[in-house]
Amino acid sequence: FARLASGLKRSSDQLTGSITSVFTKRKLDNATLEELEDVLIQADLGIETATTITDTLRRDRFDRDVSGEDVRAVLAAEVEKVLGPVARPLEIDASQKPFIILMIGVNGSGKTTTIGKLAQKFANEGKSVMLAAGDTFRAAAIEQLQIWGDRTGATVVSRPAGSDASGLAFDAVTQARAEARDVLIIDTAGRLQNRDELMNELEKVIRVIKKVNPGAPHATLLTLDATTGQNALKQVEIFGQRAGVTGLVMTKLDGTARGGILVAIASKFGLPVHFIGVGEGVGDLEAFTAAEFAQAIAG
Ligand code: GDP
Repeated sequence: FARLASGLKRSSDQLTGSITSVFTKRKLDNATLEELEDVLIQADLGIETATTITDTLRRDRFDRDVSGEDVRAVLAAEVEKVLGPVARPLEIDASQKPFIILMIGVNGSGKTTTIGKLAQKFANEGKSVMLAAGDTFRAAAIEQLQIWGDRTGATVVSRPAGSDASGLAFDAVTQARAEARDVLIIDTAGRLQNRDELMNELEKVIRVIKKVNPGAPHATLLTLDATTGQNALKQVEIFGQRAGVTGLVMTKLDGTARGGILVAIASKFGLPVHFIGVGEGVGDLEAFTAAEFAQAIAG
């Protein structure tokens, strides 16, 4: 919890600083409520959550003295209410050998790093892990995944850069099945500048996975970079439509002022949030919990 609290310090400092300045020696009236709503929207929490918070305050406290602390308590409670239903652990069905996880997300969102962190977590649990270097477009991505494989003891299946991604997926699923691996994590390309091509490739990869292993992928995780703020909403929409996202991992929650975006995403899409990234290191992946996040962001 200390990691998350310090990670979200910039988000919470900005938010609580603004709340305090709105509520210095003032009664709760329409003007303060409007100012508060602006502050909450600017903190990326989303209009829905901002409105709920101001409505709650209007109903319970109108025309009374309200301190910044009172407002923060309402903020924490409302954020926790929004996040509670989406904070869900990633459950690995042990009867699936392999349990296949498809990792998707735009370049730079932390896909490869998250795969490395997950590989370590599963290795720590005694699972045998295979990684597929499915971002066949970028030589650097293949190398990066190999480094994570070496570091975590996971086997990496790859093909030379420029190879067909669905062919690589075929190889990886076939090999992971033959070796009865516990978990196979498949990396994918994320070049959003050519969105249609990327989505077609992704759909083809998914078709091949299903063909070799009916019922898979068992989880399709979308990584989102918290520092991109509102862009993350768009990414959930785009990938959700084409790839059937089953859960989210929000990365880079260490040191961003835009952590509130997680609340907007939860409120808008209701997709499970499994993990959060709080640093670049292999251990910097935490299970997502609503109460801790709410407390960290409300300061
Ligand atoms: P990909 O292109 O989606 O595979 O993204 P990468 O995994 O290569 O990550 C892009 C950059 O973000 C790298 O420099 C990572 O070290 C960094 N990164 C990934 N996750 C986190 C995180 O949770 N916190 C921080 N601070 N950096 C991260």
